[in-house]
Amino acid sequence: MTQPDTAASGLTIQRLVKQYGETYALKDVSLEIPAGSFTTLLGPSGSGKTTLLMSIAGFTRPETGRILAGGRDITGLPPEKREFGMVFQGYALFPHLTVAGNVGFALKLRRRSRSEIATRVAAALDLVQLSHLADRYPRQLSGGQQQRVALARALVFEPGVLLLDEPLSALDKSLRADLQWELKALHARLGVTFVYVTHDQEEALSMSDQIAIIRAGEVVQSGAPAELYDRPKTHFIADFLGRSNYVEGTVARRDGRPVIEAAGQLVPVPECAAVPAAGRPAILAIRPEKITVRPDDGQGPGLPGRLSAWSYLGATISCRVATDLGEFHVHLPTWQAAFEPQPGQALRLDWPPEAGRIVRDDR
Ligand code: ADP
Repeated sequence: MTQPDTAASGLTIQRLVKQYGETYALKDVSLEIPAGSFTTLLGPSGSGKTTLLMSIAGFTRPETGRILAGGRDITGLPPEKREFGMVFQGYALFPHLTVAGNVGFALKLRRRSRSEIATRVAAALDLVQLSHLADRYPRQLSGGQQQRVALARALVFEPGVLLLDEPLSALDKSLRADLQWELKALHARLGVTFVYVTHDQEEALSMSDQIAIIRAGEVVQSGAPAELYDRPKTHFIADFLGRSNYVEGTVARRDGRPVIEAAGQLVPVPECAAVPAAGRPAILAIRPEKITVRPDDGQGPGLPGRLSAWSYLGATISCRVATDLGEFHVHLPTWQAAFEPQPGQALRLDWPPEAGRIVRDDR
């Protein structure tokens, strides 16, 4: 079962709206999910991720909008006709059936032949590396193994699309990290489309080809992880995906280049389409790891500040620096830190203009 029967389908989500009473769980959601991609729906709790995944699965009926799979309109199809694999939160394995029994259960219901069931179950268990535990019962398995049985159960029909709703949320941190690697490798081996729901930003960044960031029933930005991290469009995205420092002020021009005037400082900003006209308010977001720090000798460029707190984290030192523009968070690689931290120490913060991004204010 290295190649699925069904070729991976891409999904097209067009203008989905789903309302529960006064609440819009989905407000006009459109999204392109490329065939064979690992696409993650990421957003805070209550943002609409599960509603979107359940709409794709067919368990939730949106009021308006369409869903296409491989170009075919599936909006009106019941879940079983969509032939997608699903892995939910929790494992929901049958306790009285063995691992093989659990994986083959749906095939048995559909009255597939014994030999077909045996072949498919063996192949699915092989995929998740559980062949040696086929005769065990769920209670004899660890949490990670149970989750792999749930995966095998979803893969036994060789679906072209696999829908996963926070499948690792019940596992402890190190097991979770192991299974993240495994899932990624499984995705690469199978080549099928994965649609993965999580509220964990690191998980989304490390696993996905594409992330759609969902907030209050809307996709606010979608793209490759590095694109979203390096070029967040809004304050919410810069804050939700990693950490940022913000400079808020008014746009001005100096020698033809854009700057933000804030608290008597002129902060250079990268020239781009998102820079508002001179005189308009703007927010500049700067990632903590893109800032360099040196002891303040009263010379040269940079923003003066005083070290208010720091924390040694092994690979990095995390510093808080009080400046006229507010408190800055800076992450320095330990081996590069050019100073011995002292409380209240005078420092200069500096970063190249292109390290900053103008973000839209959507707070
Ligand atoms: P997420 O998966 O991002 O946590 P959900 O899709 O579960 O978010 O929920 C989105 C919004 O829709 C929330 O405000 C939630 O309370 C509401 N909602 C979801 N399902 C139902 C339901 N069956 N009945 C009423 N409200 C619901």
